[in-house]
Amino acid sequence: MKKTLSIVIPTFNEEKNIAHLVNELDRIMSLTEYDYEYLFVNDGSKDDTMAALKTVAWSNPKVYYIELSRNFGKDYALKAGMDMAKGDAVITMDADLQHPPQLLPLMLKYWEDGYDVVYTYREESNPHAGSFQKMASKMFYKFINRLSDLTLENGISDFRLMDRKVVNEIQKITEYEIFFRGMTKWVGFLQMGIPYTPAARHTGEASYSFSKLLKLAVGSIMAFSVKPLYIATGLGLFFSVASLLYVPYILISYFCGFDAISGWASIIATVAFFGGLQLLVLGIIGSYLGKIFIQTKNRPNYIVRSTNMVQKHDIVKL
Ligand code: UDP
Ligand code: MG
Repeated sequence: MKKTLSIVIPTFNEEKNIAHLVNELDRIMSLTEYDYEYLFVNDGSKDDTMAALKTVAWSNPKVYYIELSRNFGKDYALKAGMDMAKGDAVITMDADLQHPPQLLPLMLKYWEDGYDVVYTYREESNPHAGSFQKMASKMFYKFINRLSDLTLENGISDFRLMDRKVVNEIQKITEYEIFFRGMTKWVGFLQMGIPYTPAARHTGEASYSFSKLLKLAVGSIMAFSVKPLYIATGLGLFFSVASLLYVPYILISYFCGFDAISGWASIIATVAFFGGLQLLVLGIIGSYLGKIFIQTKNRPNYIVRSTNMVQKHDIVKL
């Protein structure tokens, strides 16, 4: 019996890319000896992505779609797709053709060789990223590697193949905050990384604004590390010890009669500095507390509005 593959594709405002992507994937996948399905997740698109999905699904029996009730974010769309995927392996990729489908045969070969996760990372010289974007991305990976127990390659992407046993483990994770690039590394298993050069976006614009990316970066670091809390403790400890050492110095200088009261500016500066530091530390603690609050509410990661999966599978059964 042929092995089955589910290709999960999160889509947000990608109406013009869908038909083209399916054509490209069909061209490559039809040369392989697998049964495959496409699982598009419409992540609350504002354009006609839904209509485009229905059109391809109507003419192509391999196309399934899941429509989420609103925009949840890419990682949540990926989770929705992985939860519903039935394949022996699940492949996740972007809808904008930045993840080259030509890489699929190599990824499948590594899977056949026994690797459980085949992930990809952008080649150092990404021609489509600005210098600020490159620097910010480098900083992010440096931070997350330093602060968490993970080792993520610079530019690691969500273009990845996962064996069924990995998918099953990931499905057991019921965290509110999802960061797939970290989670798929965290689960372990036999992993293989391959570099790729991203293509330019087929059409449309990247949908991540600076503030969305910053939120994502902070959220991902916090989801995998409590080290910021330890750093806050360390800072507090350092400054208390330093100020303790300062007291004898003041006393000695007072009794020896030199360095009388002077420099209120330095006092104000010190008070302001410590005021700021305390707020920062409180902020860090508060952020983690907030995450606990959200997690205890136990809300679902995503909500499905409609899907054609049930109908299509039913038709196959009949
Ligand atoms: N995407 C999504 N939900 C979002 C934002 C993006 O499902 O809220 C999808 C998008 O349709 C694309 C992939 O995630 O398939 C990557 O998004 P994009 O190309 O905007 O980001 P970048 O290429 O900069 O990582
Ligand atoms: Mg893109």
